[in-house]
Amino acid sequence: MSGPEPYADGPVAALRRIAFLLERGREDTYKVKAFRAAAATLLPMDPADVAAATAAGTLTELPGIGASTAAVIAEAVRGETPARLARAEAEHGGPLVQGGEELMAAIRGDLHSHSDWSDGGSPIEEMAFTAIELGREYQVLTDHSPRLKVARGLSAERLARQLDVVDAVNAHLADTGFTLLKGIEVDILDDGGLDQTKEMLARLDVRVASVHSKLAMEPAAMTRRMVAAVANPFTNVLGHCTGRLVTGGRGTRPESRFDARRVFEACAEHGVAVEINARPERRDPPTRLLELARDVGCLFSIDSDAHAPGQLDFLPYGAARAAEAGIDPDRIVNTWPRERLLAWASR
Ligand SMILES: [Zn+2]
Ligand SMILES: [Zn+2]
Repeated sequence: MSGPEPYADGPVAALRRIAFLLERGREDTYKVKAFRAAAATLLPMDPADVAAATAAGTLTELPGIGASTAAVIAEAVRGETPARLARAEAEHGGPLVQGGEELMAAIRGDLHSHSDWSDGGSPIEEMAFTAIELGREYQVLTDHSPRLKVARGLSAERLARQLDVVDAVNAHLADTGFTLLKGIEVDILDDGGLDQTKEMLARLDVRVASVHSKLAMEPAAMTRRMVAAVANPFTNVLGHCTGRLVTGGRGTRPESRFDARRVFEACAEHGVAVEINARPERRDPPTRLLELARDVGCLFSIDSDAHAPGQLDFLPYGAARAAEAGIDPDRIVNTWPRERLLAWASR
């Protein structure tokens, strides 16, 4: 019987990779938290101290480290591939979907993602590091707006503080060629207004506008509401337009009803991208509406809507659907270089 596979990347990388794979594989987040917490504990430590704690058998005395994460750390410190990592690679490391590979290769960034400032699970810098590891050139941070209290939506003051953090993260990443862009997922209010001050909206690079409340509104009113949001000069992307949930732990939810042709015609008129939300439980818009938006001449944005770093790798689900619908890659704004994207979003 042969010994364990060698492993040279160290315990932090092993813990982060396990967490990434579990998130990518849509495992329950409580299973993932332990690995992220243990990585956060080790990150600032001197590797010699980690090795000493491993040798002394005292890893579990460190905050956030339990028996299973200590086992991962000990194996990585010994230069062996941790068994938990090998299992996660086997279960969740393969391709997520067939199709769209060529389009995926053309995608440079992602316009919709959340951090632990709202309802995401990880800090801003962890989202940025993972986006870099996925080869992205840019990632838009789009935490929720104030009215979405269940998601800890950001007030104007908190958003202003977040923008300083984004500047600091970018200063650290200056030599990577990657840019974390400033954004928001702004609630579309009942009257079609946007749930953030004009002053703050003007300071952002990209704004995704989404309906999160009164999803069952009567169709004529919903159409007016969505057309008004799309016509707002700040809106760049119409997020998950029907609001449906097709599968998953949150249960299912029917599509909102609205005049999709009118909404998509407004998107085309105002240069607003229709989001292809890549989350497997959303698959929004449904195929018949995706094809309608294609025929109306809309722009698109394939977005992960990631609430955890591993979910940034959901984009292939959306790329497969866009390729299946035969959408020209040049109409997908996140195939564009950063400067072209920013010029479009600031029009
Ligand atoms: Zn949303
Ligand atoms: Zn979102």
